Order: sequence, then C-alpha cells, then structure tokens
Amino acid sequence: MKKKIAEIIREKSSFEIITHEWPDADAVGSSTALAMALVALGKDFQIVNSTPTPEHLLLTPLPEKNSKFEIRNSKFPEVSLLLDVSDMGVIGEIKPKGMVVVIDHHATNQGFGDVCWADSRMSSTSEMIYELLNALDVEITEQIATNIYMGIFGDTGGFVHPNTTKKVFEVAKELVNKGANPNYVADKLKKNKPIIYYNILCLVIQRMSVKDGICAAYVTSEELRDLNATPEDASGIVEELASIAGVELAIFLRDIDSCKAHCSLRSRNTNAARLTAQAFGGGGHDKAAGFSIQGRAKELAPVVFKEGLRWIQTA
Ligand code: 5GP
Ligand code: MN
Repeated sequence: MKKKIAEIIREKSSFEIITHEWPDADAVGSSTALAMALVALGKDFQIVNSTPTPEHLLLTPLPEKNSKFEIRNSKFPEVSLLLDVSDMGVIGEIKPKGMVVVIDHHATNQGFGDVCWADSRMSSTSEMIYELLNALDVEITEQIATNIYMGIFGDTGGFVHPNTTKKVFEVAKELVNKGANPNYVADKLKKNKPIIYYNILCLVIQRMSVKDGICAAYVTSEELRDLNATPEDASGIVEELASIAGVELAIFLRDIDSCKAHCSLRSRNTNAARLTAQAFGGGGHDKAAGFSIQGRAKELAPVVFKEGLRWIQTA
C-alpha cells in the first residue's frame, strides 16, 4: 500500500493534507513533514484542518500551501491525504475534496477511503511518513527529521509506551543523524506546560478516586470557566492518572460544552482503554483511546468506570 501511495504522489499534482481535530504531535509532525516533502517534489498542496494547530507543536515553519496551486490547477485538489485519521468522525466539519488516501496507525481503523494504508504495528503516523518519504526518495532535511521525530516522540510518550520498538530507535537514530535534536523536541513537548494545566491538575488530583485498579476523575465546564481554561488545557491529564502505581485503567472526562463531554482512557497491560472507548462509540489504540459523547463529565464518570471495570476484569 505504501508503494501505491508513493505512485499516487508521483503521478498527481495537487493535494490537500487533513488530520484529526485538536491535532497532537503526531498529527502535526506527520502533516508538516509530508507538506515539506510535497514542496520538494514541486507539488501543489494545502493543509486543511478543522481546529487550530497548537503553537508549541510548530517546531519549524508550517508550509501552509504552495502559492502556485491556484494558478496551476483549477481542479484542486486531486488527492486528499488523511493523516493519523482513524475514521471520518475525527476530522470535524471537513469534507475531503479529492481521492481519499488514508495513512494511519490506529488499531480501530477499519479501512476506509479510496486507498488506505493502516498499520497498527507502527508507533505513529510520522513513522509511516518516514517510510513513505524514503520510498519517494525525498531528502530527509533537518526540518523534516525534526517533525517526524516529534511525531514519534509524542505518540510513544517520549519512548515510554509499548509501541517503543527496536525499529523506533533505529528510525530515531537516523532522524538524529539528519539533524533532529532530541533535547529540543523533548523540551518543547515535555517541559512546556502552561501553569493553567497545573491549576486543573490540582483540582483533578483532589477529586480522583482510585479503586479496583481504576483511577477516574473529571472536570466540569463550570470549573474550567472559573479557572479561565479551555477543555484543551486539560489534555495530558489522563497520563498523570495513568502514572499512579497499580492503576490498570485511567479514565479522565472533561466537559467540552454544556451538553458534550470527551473521555480519555489509558490502560497499562490490557486492551481495556480501547474496549471501553469502543463501548461508547470511540476508538484509538489498545492502551490509549478516547471518545466524545453527549452528556456531562460528572454524570458520565461512574458509567464509564463501570464499563472499564468490566473490561479489565475480562481482559
Ligand atoms: P485522547 O483522548 O487522550 O486525546 O486520545 C487518545 C487516543 O484515542 C488517540 O489516539 C485518539 O486518536 C483516540 N481518540 C480520542 N478520542 C477519540 C474519538 O472520539 N474517536 C476515535 N475514533 N478515537 C479517539
Ligand atoms: Mn498518531
């Protein structure tokens, strides 16, 4: 499938790059690296996302679009490249305009679009982009290496999660050889949290319950408002809950607005995170998954706890 996608990229001339809502390091790293490769190949492209790219993930300038595309191609774009997208539900309001080509590593990707390269053995979509660029003979510049390294670092939790394979280290070594700076990337991703994150964490830690191997907590929209925070400011908190000794499943719910909530799940040894997320219509990876649902975080917390308990007991 990688070869087929390389062929499509060689043959076609106009592309749009789309990734999931609230892009993370892998989404931004893979999109930026591929956009830079399209520039090198002389292709017309545009990056299209439904929510803004977080500033702290812009380690290099973001090539937003090739300015020549409007002049050169009236049928723009021929191809829509969906990166780190497990299903059409995660791209928000965006409607792909071209032939849909998916590159993704989520376990819950069932295969969709016109061409789909989905491989859950890959640590990250960024690792897949690294392979694709090699297949295309694109030079891995320092900027491309930095973005791919960032994506791998992000999705392996800084070379911590079970997707940290021997191959990941081999690719990381090649990227460092090309100019990626491990300390710079780690500093931007791990030591760059705003104070507001700790304000929310403080509240969450006081509230969390640890029982039967599950740590569960939530934050309401009223609390976020009182702290002058957005729901996005609470991303990453689930990792703190999952770091407590003996916790098999971490559940963290946050209100998105007055009628919608998001749940983040992490499991240690079982697939309980994915199985619990899927029970509520979500998805992700075996040990890191999530879902969005109608309702309030506070009321949903015991319901998700009960479902999670079922899965860690049967796994
Ligand atoms: P988190 O919720 O912690 O941001 O995301 C953890 C993982 O779960 C990510 O890999 C993400 O792709 C997946 N995930 C989170 N929310 C959803 C969702 O609503 N639907 C699907 N399919 N996956 C999700
Ligand atoms: Mn990813």
